Amino acid sequence: MATYRSSADQRRDQRIANEVEAVEVMPCTFCQTLTPVLDLNTYGARCYTCYRNYCEGDRHDPSLTRDQRRDMAGIVKAALAGGLRASPQEHIRHLQAKEEAGTATPAQRGFLVAVRSLAKAPAGD
Ligand SMILES: [Zn+2]
Repeated sequence: MATYRSSADQRRDQRIANEVEAVEVMPCTFCQTLTPVLDLNTYGARCYTCYRNYCEGDRHDPSLTRDQRRDMAGIVKAALAGGLRASPQEHIRHLQAKEEAGTATPAQRGFLVAVRSLAKAPAGD
């Protein structure tokens, strides 16, 4: 009967393996709840609960003044032109300083959580 192991069986095994991979979980960036990676991809690194909160909450910053908008446009243009040359490590240190000072935005804190979870993950192979 060992030879009866058909290609259908092998396809079934592969399908199960794919499903296991599909439900791989990582912590939600905002509340740390273990969440399927597919959901994180769908909801912007959030679990569904945090996504609902995001959608229902006041997610807009107070509107910018005309001058603030102009300053921000200048910063974005400089960044796109390569005028901001912080390395990824410098950027992370910058965000950590903001976090310690309590001035990091939820998105910046979420970014740091993601960075730390990546740093803790074993090297992929
Ligand atoms: Zn969450």
